[in-house]
Amino acid sequence: MAEKTGKKENSCFICNKTEHQAVLLACRKGGEDLHVCTRCLPMLIHGG
Ligand SMILES: [Zn+2]
Repeated sequence: MAEKTGKKENSCFICNKTEHQAVLLACRKGGEDLHVCTRCLPMLIHGG
């Protein structure tokens, strides 16, 4: 694997898809910087 040191790959905090598998959007929850993919975003919006 060719991972860059010190930088974790962004992934959806719900389904763990990476930015290479889906479109990720930055969001914040509980003071944390998170990412969510466009498939999981509607669940959040509708309070899932
Ligand atoms: Zn997702």
